[in-house]
Amino acid sequence: MKQILFTVGPVEMHPETLELGGTQLPYFRTPEFSALALENERILLTLADAPQGSRAIFLTASGTGAMEAALINGLAEGDRALIVVGGSFGQRFVEICEDDGIANDTIEVAPGRALDLDRVKALDLSRYKALLVNAHETSTGVLYDILRLGEICRASGLLFIVDAVSAFLCDALSMQAMGIDILITSSQKALALPPGLSMLVLSPAALVNVKAVKPRSHYLGLAKYLLDGERGQTPFTPAVGIILQLNGRLKAIANAGGAAVMVARAAGLASHFRHAIQGLPFTTFAETPSNALTALSPRSGVSAYDVFMRLKEDYGLIVTPNGGALRDRVFRVGHMGNLTEENLDALAEALGRLWT
Ligand SMILES: *Cc1c(COP(=O)(O)O)cnc(C)c1O
Repeated sequence: MKQILFTVGPVEMHPETLELGGTQLPYFRTPEFSALALENERILLTLADAPQGSRAIFLTASGTGAMEAALINGLAEGDRALIVVGGSFGQRFVEICEDDGIANDTIEVAPGRALDLDRVKALDLSRYKALLVNAHETSTGVLYDILRLGEICRASGLLFIVDAVSAFLCDALSMQAMGIDILITSSQKALALPPGLSMLVLSPAALVNVKAVKPRSHYLGLAKYLLDGERGQTPFTPAVGIILQLNGRLKAIANAGGAAVMVARAAGLASHFRHAIQGLPFTTFAETPSNALTALSPRSGVSAYDVFMRLKEDYGLIVTPNGGALRDRVFRVGHMGNLTEENLDALAEALGRLWT
């Protein structure tokens, strides 16, 4: 049975990406590879709507590696972080801070709920160096109000670190308009590439920080990447194959109209699917949903995990199960990657048949 991925990474890849993945890799310490890497940086900065003077860094690591790099290079010894925690990806920021000795406080948000900004404003923000948030908390499908959070950061002089791993190219994001200092994303979500490459876009303010902070890691010390990146190189062997595939995707996205067109596409798929399942016994879980996915709860005492298993075994349709406390309450349907409205219709139809 042919499977279709409605997962949140890896996702369905485009034929061009698959074809490139089957070719011999070139040696990378060459002017040709440098030119390609510099082109990737240029296009990524445009897609992130980064302010003049921003830089992008490409890490051979999954998205979590870029999250950790942002924290240990953005916050110095003694700096305190404020973290929005509305699910497992917010919790991941907390765990990174704990392991790396970064003092932190959290604003806990109930799973599936939006963040009440007055709770942030009520805090004494002068105690903090940085605000950490996952633009889209992928475990629950909630999209936070990054524009308003950015205004709060700007007013209080906080470094604004945004994990946009699953929001990038799905939800409207502009580093300039939203005052984002460090934007994090990775290869296996809306870019629809193999996992293994993550990206950080640093604003000029973030660059000043990174150059001043002594990082508590050799591999993730970003100053080296910035220096070598000036000539399109990296300190260590990069994920050469994914960088080539990324180049193909970035050029295709830029040629097709850029980030706005990608976001419109994700929004179109999300609303198509949400319309197609109307009348079925599911409720949407997220109060302010991202376009990247639809998080659904079965209404009738049916286990969400069983829905995932039935769809996989009977139809080859792979939705994304939840873990932990949400295992039986929530499953997620991704709208990223090379999916079509027909794919989503097939899934909606299968969901309808589970109860007949
Ligand atoms: C996927 C994802 C990550 C990265 O996870 P990795 O498994 O390390 O690639 C980080 N944050 C969010 C919000 C994500 O959706």
